[in-house]
Amino acid sequence: MTHAQRIKDIRVHVVDIPAKTVHSHGSGDVGGINSAILEIVTDGGVTGWGEASPWPVFTGTVEASAAALHVHLRPHLIGGNPLHVDKHMTMADKVIVGCPEAKAALETALLDIVGQLAGLPIVELVGGRHRDTIPMSFSVANPDFDADLEDVARLYEDGVRLFKLKTGFGEHAFDVMRLDKLRNLYGDTVSLRIDYNQGLRAYDAIRTLRDLEAFRPAFIEQPVKMHERAALAEITRALDTPVMADESVFNPREAMAGVEMRMADIFALKIMKSGGIRRALEVASIARVGGIDVYGGCMFETGIAHAAGTHLMAAIPDLHLGCEFYMPTYYMREDILTEPFPVRGGQVHVPTSPGLGVAVDPGKLAKYRTELWQ
Ligand SMILES: [Mg+2]
Repeated sequence: MTHAQRIKDIRVHVVDIPAKTVHSHGSGDVGGINSAILEIVTDGGVTGWGEASPWPVFTGTVEASAAALHVHLRPHLIGGNPLHVDKHMTMADKVIVGCPEAKAALETALLDIVGQLAGLPIVELVGGRHRDTIPMSFSVANPDFDADLEDVARLYEDGVRLFKLKTGFGEHAFDVMRLDKLRNLYGDTVSLRIDYNQGLRAYDAIRTLRDLEAFRPAFIEQPVKMHERAALAEITRALDTPVMADESVFNPREAMAGVEMRMADIFALKIMKSGGIRRALEVASIARVGGIDVYGGCMFETGIAHAAGTHLMAAIPDLHLGCEFYMPTYYMREDILTEPFPVRGGQVHVPTSPGLGVAVDPGKLAKYRTELWQ
C-alpha cells in the first residue's frame, strides 16, 4: 500500500557547476550554478528530487538554503507522510521565515514523490496541463557581445525566436547598439525583450527606457530596484511598452500589492521567489484577476528546478510570453540529469512521465558536489 510510505531519509547536495560563459546583469555577474539539491527517500524506496537555486543579490544564499533544509526542516519531515504536501509546506512557513528557494526544493521533492506514487506528472497534480510545449527565451547577457551574436545565430538555427537582452550593466549606448544590431539582423522574426535587473536609477529611468522603445521590445523587465515599487508603477504608466516586475514581486502578498497599485503589466513567475509551484500558481491567479500577464522566469538552475518550472508554466491557462528555461541546454557546461533537459526546436517540452519527469545522474551529481549534508 503505497499510501503508507514514510519519509525515511533526506540529503542535501550542494553543487557548483561551471557555465560556458559569464552572464552579466544589472545586479552583478554570474559564472556558474551554485544550488542545493534536495533528495528525499521514502521507506518504500521512492526518491524525490528538488532544487534550491538562490542568487545572493536577488533571493538569498545556497548556505542558507542548505541549512534551512537540513537543520531546520529535516527534523519535522523524517517519518512524515510524503502525500501531505500542504501540511509540510505549512510547517515550513511556520518553522523558518523567508528561504523561498529551500521551500521550492521541498515542495518539488514532495510533489515528485506524490507524482511517482500516483503515476502522474506533477502538472496533472496541480490542475492539469494547458500545453505540451512552451516557447523558450535565451538571455543575451555576455559582456562579449560578439560571442553573444554567435550564440544567438546558433540558437536561431535551433528554432529559438525569443531573446532577452540583459541591460544596465554597461553604458546606455552599449545597450542601444546591441538592440539595434539584433533588430537589424533578425527584423521582426524575433521577439526581443529587455531586463535591467534593477540596474537603472529611478529618477532618470523613463527617458532612458523611452530610447529603447524604438526597438519594439515585447517587454521591459525590472528597470529599478526591487523596493522602488512606486517608481516601477510610474514607469509602467509612462511607457507604451509593457513593463514586467520580477524582483519586486516574490509571493502572493506582493502580487496583491502589485495589482492594487498596478505596479506592472506582467509578473515574472519563479518557484524560487514564491517558494514552490503552488504559491506561484497563486501569484498567477492574483495577476489574472488584476489583468496582469505572467511569464516563466528562472534563477541559475539545473534541469531539476527547470523541470519544476516547466510543470508550473504548463498549468497556466493563458501564456503569451513563454519561459526562459535555457540553462542546461545553452548555459551550463554539463547538467546533472541522465537525459538532456527537453528543449527542441526552441520549445521546452513538458515532461510526461510520473512526478518531476526527470532523473538525476548520481555520477554527475557526485562530480559537481562540494558538500553533502546528511
Ligand atoms: Mg529578471
